[in-house]
Amino acid sequence: MRATANLAQMSEILDAVRAGASSEALASTPMPERSRAVFVRRDEQEMFAGMASKDKDPRRSLHVDEVPLPELAPDEVFLAVMASSINFNSVWTSIFEPLSTFGFLDRLGKESYWGRRHALDYHVIGSDAAGVIIRAGSAVRNWKVGDEVTVHCNYVDDQDPSGHDDSMLAGNQRIWGFETNFGGLADICVVKANQLMPKPTHLTWEEAAVNALCNSTAYRMLVSRHGAPVTQGDKVLIWGASGGIGSFAVQHVLNSGGTPIGVVSSEDKVETLYELGCQHVINRREKGYRFWSDDHTQDESEWRRLGKDIRALVGDDPDIVFEHPGRATMGASVFVAKRGGTIVTCAATSGYMIEYDNRHLWMKLKTIKGSHFSNYREAWAANQTIIDAKVVPPLSAVFPLVDTAEAAYEVHHNRHEGKIAILCAAPSEGLGITNPELRARVGEQRLTIFRRHDKG
Ligand code: NAP
Repeated sequence: MRATANLAQMSEILDAVRAGASSEALASTPMPERSRAVFVRRDEQEMFAGMASKDKDPRRSLHVDEVPLPELAPDEVFLAVMASSINFNSVWTSIFEPLSTFGFLDRLGKESYWGRRHALDYHVIGSDAAGVIIRAGSAVRNWKVGDEVTVHCNYVDDQDPSGHDDSMLAGNQRIWGFETNFGGLADICVVKANQLMPKPTHLTWEEAAVNALCNSTAYRMLVSRHGAPVTQGDKVLIWGASGGIGSFAVQHVLNSGGTPIGVVSSEDKVETLYELGCQHVINRREKGYRFWSDDHTQDESEWRRLGKDIRALVGDDPDIVFEHPGRATMGASVFVAKRGGTIVTCAATSGYMIEYDNRHLWMKLKTIKGSHFSNYREAWAANQTIIDAKVVPPLSAVFPLVDTAEAAYEVHHNRHEGKIAILCAAPSEGLGITNPELRARVGEQRLTIFRRHDKG
């Protein structure tokens, strides 16, 4: 376990938030001009040029220091961030892969007066947050100073008609804290009001901060009609089933009456999944699958071996494959999916130039479905699953903001389980629970599955 105390920023308004000050008191407490934040620097975006991904070290590129706060747009709030989390996009930003994120900021900077604020020589990152609103812009209607919230990362201009049916289809859709500046890994961040959602009352700040990005992504992939919705009896193969998105995917499949088959790479992770309720787990390291015999050649007999292992566990081929490792596994995923089945993918951690045998796709009438984060409705529905305790946060470890780079290093090297939270303005862990009765009903045992199993 990591440190529990946080070297928090000195600030009158953050102290007031920590002391539980009223909405009126917070509104009349002056805002600081600067906030402590985690950022990458434009003048360092070439620092890893020519290096292999695994050697690019977030501990060299992620900095923690105070940066100026921008002017607040009418539809935004300043949020005192009690906790945030590491997402894989924090890793991508920190190693400047597949692109430096400064290109995203520059593009946003050209769009509008308010967009111009984002194109800076530092990029404050972070796509999750739980905290307290400390200022609300003049156009914010449904939220007020003092509200306790979580944040989803869908950043959309709702004046663009292309997003009216499904905001993920908006031409200017962005991921907050990845494709925008002023993200959640800070003591104070800037959030559009339409990203705000109620904080689950039975959770601590750090438990509340790890869900929105990964849970909403898994929800769209496996529950929403925009993905490959699971129905009762479906078998679902889930790669990385104890990782960030995978641990939510397992819970959504169980809630939908499906049967998850989790793939992980250690016995500890197998045990975590059993406790989560996933009865069928494959340890890919123990099995030693070699889907690629060299950099250019895949081995169909190894795909077949995985297929047999799945059948041995659940008696059938998977109706749905939850895919995100990408190049390493896509050939196998397409092969093992059931006739007529769907491979739903949102990522390519091991490489995005994918190869699979198309004969297995068309002859067996399979579908590959692309998915990305979630629209507002899906993000709210996913948040409701947390509020209702139908889904528990897979929080495995908590790091203080000053050690964000260490946490990103852990995720980059797949040394974590579930999600790592970052303590920002919260002075210590365990704070923020306002509904202890619901917490008692859910039970500490269930809420701490990943923390008890984490060996970090
Ligand atoms: P994570 O916490 O690191 O989990 C990923 C899991 O994938 C790991 O636990 C690992 O599990 C497994 N894995 C990694 N490399 C693998 C390989 N070569 N073969 C098989 N399994 C492998 O990351 P995450 O938060 O779940 O994110 C996963 C990916 O999705 C990242 O690329 C991320 O950027 C992307 N993502 C996309 C969206 C979106 O909206 N499009 C949203 C969230 C995440 P084992 O080692 O235990 O097998």
